[in-house]
Amino acid sequence: MTNSDRPNRNVNLRIDLASIRHNLTCARKLAPDSKIIATVKADAYGHGMINVLSALQDADAFAVATMEEGVALRRSGASKPIMVLQGFRTESNLYECVTLDLWPVIHARYQLEIITKQKLASLSCWVKFDTGMGRVGLRCENAQSIHRRLTASSVNVVGIMSHLANASHIEDLSNDRQLREFSAIRWPDAVDRSLANSAALISRRDMHFDWVRPGIMLYGASPLESSDAASLGLQPAMRATAPVIAIREFKRGQRIGYGGRYQCSQDTKAAIVGAGYGDGYPRSVPDGTAVMLGNQRCPIIGQVSMDSMVVDISSLTVPPPIDYPVTLWGHSQLPVDEIAALAGTISYEPLCAIRGQRHWIDASSNLNVRKIVKDLSTH
Ligand SMILES: *Cc1c(COP(=O)(O)O)cnc(C)c1O
Repeated sequence: MTNSDRPNRNVNLRIDLASIRHNLTCARKLAPDSKIIATVKADAYGHGMINVLSALQDADAFAVATMEEGVALRRSGASKPIMVLQGFRTESNLYECVTLDLWPVIHARYQLEIITKQKLASLSCWVKFDTGMGRVGLRCENAQSIHRRLTASSVNVVGIMSHLANASHIEDLSNDRQLREFSAIRWPDAVDRSLANSAALISRRDMHFDWVRPGIMLYGASPLESSDAASLGLQPAMRATAPVIAIREFKRGQRIGYGGRYQCSQDTKAAIVGAGYGDGYPRSVPDGTAVMLGNQRCPIIGQVSMDSMVVDISSLTVPPPIDYPVTLWGHSQLPVDEIAALAGTISYEPLCAIRGQRHWIDASSNLNVRKIVKDLSTH
């Protein structure tokens, strides 16, 4: 059992591989002339890196953040190229890149030094430049000297890349500045180029280059501030549910939960749902944030607790039975983007944070039979 699972808690995460496959097809259609690096870092944004691989068979490569993720992905049997976004930190990491055939991203000078010292044959890597993200990356004006050093160490540079700081705001002028900087990098050899994350893949054809690197869109959440996932044709891959643990009736005027933030303006029927911030559901959501009981939206009232939340079900004609699964997000009418926005964050954060029992299904089979996929991460 991986420790990212939390099997002793109530949250149930149903992950639909068919949706991920569909979203990858969307990416393919939007960037038909580019190769696709499917980004599966942070356990595939909470969807289970190893378990979603079968849905990403059509990708040309994978991207992970850490060396450890890269090693785990290769050892799981993935045969496509694996880009390690943080690259190697140590000499033994570099050795692993060679023996496991990983593509480290060289983004800092200390990595050049490790390479020079090691004199390893047959390393393939990417070189990352900082065109304005202000995080990792080498300086664009040093491209030629970096190239010289890598050539002297007989390293195979697959491509050069950069990352956008404001791609979710397509109208932000910094995107154009970064594109100009990136295009102006003078790399003496003909190598591949890669700039686009999901947002740029969807909204900026001129940023596609040779390889696109979608992440969030594969999981069916919107990378753009201005569009929702459904209007982009994306399907949510994760549905998070938690059971009803009690039905309560509160009198008008009664306060609900820690701090008594919410006060009932009338007699209120409530369902107590057995999930909270201890499961990774954001505590910061305001009163009125929706959950779904069947196809009915019902509002959360009061602060979300560690293990539970209170939901106003006064609008329901019949109260749900105990143990009824309440959808926290991932219903077609309750996208994770909505919850994230109300919590003052982006979908990436709750998707990565939520914990529970994960089930992988594949709703695409011809017979429309839902196949339960074995949890490979427990072995
Ligand atoms: C996470 C990441 C991506 C994927 O970004 P999305 O917004 O999820 O599409 C691409 N490139 C780099 C360098 C990243 O860190």
